[in-house]
Amino acid sequence: MREFNLAPIELPPESETLRAEVRDFLDQEMRSYTVVERARTWFGFDPAFSRKLGERGWIGMTWPAQWGGHERPDSDRYVVIEEMLAAGAPVGAHWIADRQSGPLILTYGSEEAKQAFLPGIAKGELFFCIGMSEPNAGSDLAAITTRATRCDGGWRVNGSKLWTTGVMHAHQMIALVRTDQKAEVRHAGMSQLIIDLNANGLTRRPIVDHQGESHFGEVHFDNVFVPDSMLVGEAGNGWAQVNAELALERSGPERYLSSYRVFEELVAAYRDTGDSQIEPLVGELTARFWTLRQMSLAVADGVARGHNPVAEAAIVKDLGAKLEQDIPLLAQATIGGRVSQPASLIATIEYLLRFSPIFSLRGGTREILRGIIAREIGLR
Ligand SMILES: Cc1cc2nc3c(=O)[nH]c(=O)nc-3n(C[C@H](O)[C@H](O)[C@H](O)COP(=O)(O)OP(=O)(O)OC[C@H]3O[C@@H](n4cnc5c(N)ncnc54)[C@H](O)[C@@H]3O)c2cc1C
Repeated sequence: MREFNLAPIELPPESETLRAEVRDFLDQEMRSYTVVERARTWFGFDPAFSRKLGERGWIGMTWPAQWGGHERPDSDRYVVIEEMLAAGAPVGAHWIADRQSGPLILTYGSEEAKQAFLPGIAKGELFFCIGMSEPNAGSDLAAITTRATRCDGGWRVNGSKLWTTGVMHAHQMIALVRTDQKAEVRHAGMSQLIIDLNANGLTRRPIVDHQGESHFGEVHFDNVFVPDSMLVGEAGNGWAQVNAELALERSGPERYLSSYRVFEELVAAYRDTGDSQIEPLVGELTARFWTLRQMSLAVADGVARGHNPVAEAAIVKDLGAKLEQDIPLLAQATIGGRVSQPASLIATIEYLLRFSPIFSLRGGTREILRGIIAREIGLR
């Protein structure tokens, strides 16, 4: 059985200085935001806001200056995203590009791809989405059938992607596709391609969720041409690359702060009241936030050191989603029978009660994460 490495780490004092700067900026910028807009956290979409972050150097923070980055330590980036999420800032437009697509291109992309995309991402002007899931391949990602076949100067892509967050606004998708139809092992023969969402033969449609919002959509590829330079890494190495990418996707503060707005509204409404039911709840949630934050920081530190803490990231995501789903339920159970609650508290709880079921689906379902953890500790 292998040991988990989740040793707590401290952020350096310089990053804490940056925190004050980020808070001032958010106080100024977010005065007019409603509580429900803030409760959307990283699903809130505002390209003008993303551009402002780009101007401040708060996107692509750790990347080399050569590619439009700012060569800041990972701890600075952690502080920026933590503050953005705690404030409920509308970071959705650039979120995937900054967290995932940019780092992937930086590690595996061609020189052309780096030049074409990284500076635009860092400016907060170029948005990406993730094309992994398909109509018959969600949890079982190795079942994808979207295929790319060789042609003169590149690839022709045919198939569909589903549940693609941000696809209606994004400019590019990094898609996992099958490039070797004859591969005998199902995890082999897959590759990642950067696909222009305005390419000929590509159609995209929004999917409206149960709240009437359309954060995600579906995409169809009908002989879409992708040039050779848009292959990410080596052909056939897609599975390994995607797994490394998922560790980045599963362990950040966005995996435990999605319901933080309820906590803030609860504390604001009951501060100094000595309420005998609210105080234990606030205490319990504070302890859980603290623990998850330490675990998430430990995973971020591992990634920064070049490790691939797949199981640790899965633990953070699973426990984090549980906390995010518990918060609105516990708040409702605690204040449910009381009359005349602040409208902002009620609106936030209502919104997150409806929104939170997706927290244990996006980025990998609970059962899949637990399967990964079980495998890592030798139970299967
Ligand atoms: C809000 C949201 C945003 C998303 N954004 C993106 C995105 O940007 N890009 C993208 O590619 N995908 C995205 N997804 C897709 C998401 O990652 C998949 O939906 C998820 O992996 C589940 O796939 P599925 O819906 O096909 O369910 P299924 O895979 O059909 O699973 C159905 C149920 O069966 C369980 N199950 C499946 N297999 C097993 C197993 N082996 N053992 C035990 N239980 C199992 C699952 O846990 C689940 O409860 C998003 C989903 C949501 C909800």
